[in-house]
Amino acid sequence: MIDLHAHTTCSDGTDSPRALVNVALTRGITTLAITDHDSIAGWQEASNAIRAGLKLVPGAEISCLTTDGISVHMLGLLFDGADKAILQMLEETRDGRIPRMKKMIELLNADGIDVSMDDVDAARPEGATLGRPHLADALVARGFIASRDEAFQGLLNNDSKFYVSHLAPTPESAIAQIRSAGGVAVIAHAFASHRGEVLKSEAFTSLVKAGLNGIEVDHRDHNAQERSMLREIALDLGLVVTGSSDYHGSGKLNSLGENTTDAQEWERLESMADKRRVVQA
Ligand code: AMP
Ligand code: ZN
Ligand code: FE
Ligand code: FE
Repeated sequence: MIDLHAHTTCSDGTDSPRALVNVALTRGITTLAITDHDSIAGWQEASNAIRAGLKLVPGAEISCLTTDGISVHMLGLLFDGADKAILQMLEETRDGRIPRMKKMIELLNADGIDVSMDDVDAARPEGATLGRPHLADALVARGFIASRDEAFQGLLNNDSKFYVSHLAPTPESAIAQIRSAGGVAVIAHAFASHRGEVLKSEAFTSLVKAGLNGIEVDHRDHNAQERSMLREIALDLGLVVTGSSDYHGSGKLNSLGENTTDAQEWERLESMADKRRVVQA
């Protein structure tokens, strides 16, 4: 089973990189991508934990913003983790998440919801990319809501009045950085409409021009119609089709391997990277 999208405590997942590898082994995953938000901090620990039976695909889920303000997540897989330009892009996005969080906290405070940056820091594992799930955890700790899930259905949703976007590259520039670092770019949950406004089908042409390699089609946030539209776009544009869990440990309902990628599609995707970078025991 090939699962190309999973998070750890290096962003908003709840399993450490080592724990993620162990869960993957017990679930019968054979190829697993570690894709923390805007970070490669988990690569080393995950690589060290790899044992026979499981291959590790180094990756990251890069937060992007279109010029129209639409939030897009780009999976960068198999890129060179020593490439300075991509590391700088990731660092700038992580830095931009701090003022953004402060603004969201101000908006919540103005509405009488008493939560502070200290509360959020207490909810965030050391070194983790700061995100709304940590704010959600702080709101749970403060007793305002019951779960992350509840937060994303209301207060912290992209359509909420408390939502603030953060500095991020355009999808085209993220793709260009991933490709120039030797990796492959797969757009994540592109039609997950319940998260907020999504790309129009026409937008894919420009992404392909920038070097897009694949589309994540099978994802729990896509219904049957969204999957078939994406599959058709992938077929039309010659893109690889992937499926994945977007596992976040206990931070989300998604279970590892609940959606997977076909072996032939993975082979095609891997062949588009400039080098073999899969980690094995
Ligand atoms: P941010 O990157 O700070 O904008 O936060 C977005 C992150 O929140 C994404 O990685 C999602 O995986 C996560 N997220 C979205 N919906 C939910 C949910 N219902 N429960 C837990 N996490 C979620
Ligand atoms: Zn996440
Ligand atoms: Fe995502
Ligand atoms: Fe994700």
